[in-house]
Amino acid sequence: MPELPDITVYVESLAAKVLGDVLQRLRLLNPFLLRTARPPIAVVEGRRVAGVERLGKRVVIALEGELFLVLHLMIAGRLKWLAAGAKPPAGKATLAVFEFGGGSLVFTEAGTTRRASLHLLHGRDALVASDPGGIDVMTCDRADFAARLRRENHTVKRSLTDPRLFSGIGNAYSDEMLHCARMSPLTLTRKLDDAQIERLLGAMRAVLGEWTERLRAEAAHAAWPAKVTAFRPQMAVHGRYGLPCPVCAAPVQRIVYANNETNYCARCQTGGRLLADRALSTLLKASWPRHIDDLDAG
Ligand SMILES: [Zn+2]
Repeated sequence: MPELPDITVYVESLAAKVLGDVLQRLRLLNPFLLRTARPPIAVVEGRRVAGVERLGKRVVIALEGELFLVLHLMIAGRLKWLAAGAKPPAGKATLAVFEFGGGSLVFTEAGTTRRASLHLLHGRDALVASDPGGIDVMTCDRADFAARLRRENHTVKRSLTDPRLFSGIGNAYSDEMLHCARMSPLTLTRKLDDAQIERLLGAMRAVLGEWTERLRAEAAHAAWPAKVTAFRPQMAVHGRYGLPCPVCAAPVQRIVYANNETNYCARCQTGGRLLADRALSTLLKASWPRHIDDLDAG
C-alpha cells in the first residue's frame, strides 16, 4: 500500500498539475469505486481545485465550495497523469478519469480485487471526521509521540502501522524504521524506555525523510511518480527475505502472516535471536533454529 512518502509525492505532483485548474468532467468507469451518495458526484464538475492534501494514506482533492474528493488507493490503486487529449488506458483496471483543463488524472487498480475507493465529502468537518487520527511523525512533538506509543501495550510493529496512532505508515516503511532503530518488531510498546523512544522517533523521521527525498527526485525526473511500489532495491529489509542486510550482511529474516510478512535483521535488531514465526515454527517444531548462528550450522 502506498505510504507517506509515496502519497506525499503524489500530492505534490498532482498539485503542480491541477491547482487552480477546473475539474471539467469526472468519468466513473467502475460504479463501485464511489462509496458515498451525498452530495451527488455530479456537483464536482466545473469546480476549481483549491488544494491537494494527504490524509493518512489517502490523496484528497479539495474543490471550491468545500468539496473534497478522497482517493484511497489501498494496495493496488495507482494514479497516472495524462496530457490533455491523450486517451486513458482501456480495460477494467481504469476505475475513473478526472478531466482537468490541463490534462487528466487516471485512477487505476491492478488485479481483480476491488479495494480502492473514492469518497465525496462536503465540508472540512466531514473530512476531519473521516481521518483515523494518526499524527504526522515528521512534525509531532516528542511527548505526544511517546504518549501514543505507550497508550496501549502492543508490539511496536503493530503500533507503528496503526492509522489511529500514526499517519501514513504501513508494512514497508515500518520494517525500514525498525531496522534503522535497531529494534525488534515484537518489542512491546510499554517496555520502551525514553532513550528507545527517542531513537525510534529519530529513525522514523530519517527513513521517511530519506525516502520522500528519493521519491521526489524520481518523480521530478519522470515528471510524475510513475513507479509506485512497496518493494524497492534500496530498502534495507522490507521485501528482502534471505538477502544480505546492508549493515551487517546477515540474511534478512521474516515473520509470515496470512497476507503479508514482517522483515527484520536478526543481528541488527534482535541480538541474533530468530523470532518465532507461528506457521514455520509449528511446521518445523524441534528443528526450528533459535539463533541466526544456528542457521549456518543447520
Ligand atoms: Zn543487519
